[in-house]
Amino acid sequence: MTIESNIEKVKQEIKESCQKVGRSTDEITLIAVTKYVTIEQTKEVIDAKIVNIAENRLEGLTKKQAACTNEDVIWHFIGNLQSRKVKDIVDKMDYFHALDRLSIAKEINKRAKRRIPCFVQVNVSGEKTKNGIAPNEVESFIESLADFPNVEVVGLMTMAPYTDDQIILRQVFRKLRELRDYIVGKNYPHAPCQGLSMGMSHDYKIAIEEGATHIRIGNRIVGTEG
Ligand SMILES: *Cc1c(COP(=O)(O)O)cnc(C)c1O
Repeated sequence: MTIESNIEKVKQEIKESCQKVGRSTDEITLIAVTKYVTIEQTKEVIDAKIVNIAENRLEGLTKKQAACTNEDVIWHFIGNLQSRKVKDIVDKMDYFHALDRLSIAKEINKRAKRRIPCFVQVNVSGEKTKNGIAPNEVESFIESLADFPNVEVVGLMTMAPYTDDQIILRQVFRKLRELRDYIVGKNYPHAPCQGLSMGMSHDYKIAIEEGATHIRIGNRIVGTEG
């Protein structure tokens, strides 16, 4: 499978999932995760008209960005950040998907030259190995972000457990959507929070059915699983 045909297939499946639940494909932002692959392969993804690219390490983002100078590319950072690295990355990312600590928000606020759109990462499943804010702490966390004018909460993000159990996946995605709706209802000026960054290669169809607005796809696009 080529990257181009993988993308075609993913797009077709996005369309089918949207149709199933009466959503428009315009509501879905397809983000290609290029963390596994080379600059050459990342360029192939961009040449196939994918505009949204994600990396999870500073080194990866820096390298790919330097080589892929297409102005249209929107860069997403999906990895965890250490405070001391924020200053090196904050002006390179268009979106940050893994905000889950006040210390990072504070550092972003201090170092950024503009407002950074951020997704607050939520540990919906409660797995110890996963990062993110506990669901019952999301509201107070987001409230405390009001102190940081350079941090804009554009949505919530989660990673579902690695399972084929559709019931569990649906529960996790649904819970994030309900939390999102709750936060939206608060009308925080600093946290419009319309987005739902959820769904990866093995679970994005369900995530779309449950309301995802941003799906983060690595393997299905750049891998060999086609
Ligand atoms: C690696 C990664 C992805 C992509 O995972 P795939 O299973 O390859 O699609 C999505 N989100 C995050 C946060 C990741 O680290």
